[in-house]
Amino acid sequence: MLTAIVGINWGDEGKGRMVDLLSSDYDIICRYQGGNNAGHTVINDKGKFVLNLLPSGILRETTVNVMGNGMVIDLEHLVGEMKALTDKGIHIGPDNLKISDKAIICMPYHKMQDIMEEERLADKKFGSTRRGIAPVYADKYMKKGIRMEDLLHMDSLYGKLRDIVEWKNITVTGYGHAPVDVDAMMDWLKTYGSVVAPFVTDVSGYLADAAASGKNIMFEAQLGALRDIDFGIYPYTSSSTTLAAYAPIGAGIPGAQLNNTIGIMKAYSTCVGEGPFTVEMFGDEAEQLRAAGGEYGAATGRPRRVGPFDVPASRYGVRMQGASTIALTKLDVLSYLDRIPVCVAYEIDGQRTADFPTGERLNRAKPVIEYVDGFGDVSQCRSYDDLPENAKRYISTLEQAVGCRIEYVSVGAGRDEYVKID
Ligand code: GDP
Ligand code: MG
Repeated sequence: MLTAIVGINWGDEGKGRMVDLLSSDYDIICRYQGGNNAGHTVINDKGKFVLNLLPSGILRETTVNVMGNGMVIDLEHLVGEMKALTDKGIHIGPDNLKISDKAIICMPYHKMQDIMEEERLADKKFGSTRRGIAPVYADKYMKKGIRMEDLLHMDSLYGKLRDIVEWKNITVTGYGHAPVDVDAMMDWLKTYGSVVAPFVTDVSGYLADAAASGKNIMFEAQLGALRDIDFGIYPYTSSSTTLAAYAPIGAGIPGAQLNNTIGIMKAYSTCVGEGPFTVEMFGDEAEQLRAAGGEYGAATGRPRRVGPFDVPASRYGVRMQGASTIALTKLDVLSYLDRIPVCVAYEIDGQRTADFPTGERLNRAKPVIEYVDGFGDVSQCRSYDDLPENAKRYISTLEQAVGCRIEYVSVGAGRDEYVKID
């Protein structure tokens, strides 16, 4: 069984918590794209964790965790994240963590370049997390990346690094910044690379063997469909492919076919950073929803922009992900509302549409809002029958609107706070 857990919306849908819940049935959990701009929050019997680079399966003793070739990895951050977990008693060793030899290393100069670029753009910035993600992916495709494999060959790494740094300094000095020092970069690679090197392996061969012997593999995405580099709200997207179809490639098993794609969809909308966000609420209404949902970025602490559930955007997200079923998250957050706003369509240039436009037309879209009855407290519900009638109605309204079955509903952040719908 090969299953992808992916985001239907703009990210922060609760992917980490669903991976933590559903990973009990899987042998291997793979992250396949992105870097430490991810923030996946998991609350379980071991405590509360925010994972940026490590797959959320690392918290289960029974799983092996893979960081795939599609990822970009800041070694210093990874070492810090591993230490924070081992300090809390979580075991991390080459037996339960395997890092692709083909994953690209996010260097300190990528972070620096990211910050310089956001500062240069001033009020036109893209809302980058300033973790070097766009510059490191750009370098990957310029074929100026340093791969994890290079950590296993320190002797030949110096020459490669020197050439890359010389090239990078054309850009860095262009920003008016002092050039990057190759020896400092080499020291950084040695310091953190020596900790990480024992985990670096040919993940592709490992996954092929695992799949052939019938192991269950789960792929954990970062961000959501609307942040995909091709199909999202470009250029306010991430720099990688957040879609399920890329999961086997980014993990290292490109010939495999997914059996199952679970789309994680939030009961309302949130968006971190810049870009068009048609359903955005402002003022007290927004503040109430943000407070109810605790909508502050896990990776950055930034207040998330909030709004009602967005049918056109979510329907598009379901289509782009090819979701087989949906996990609807954070239903409990809406408990305080007597009537719940839902954006059922957009109005663009006086025309009503249920299709999600990308590009310029999206900037002119206005939300068409309808209200459905509130359902009160659902936080204690553990089965479908426990749910109030109005909550069942909200769920079936969304199901019909996005055209996909809702299989799980989460009603709290804890591992067991959910309802399964058969
Ligand atoms: P991810 O990036 O998709 O993994 O999501 P985040 O972890 O960034 O954001 C989801 C937030 O909602 C986290 O703080 C979770 O602990 C929390 N959360 C997840 N599911 C639920 C739920 O059903 N109810 C509530 N109230 N919080 C939830
Ligand atoms: Mg997140």
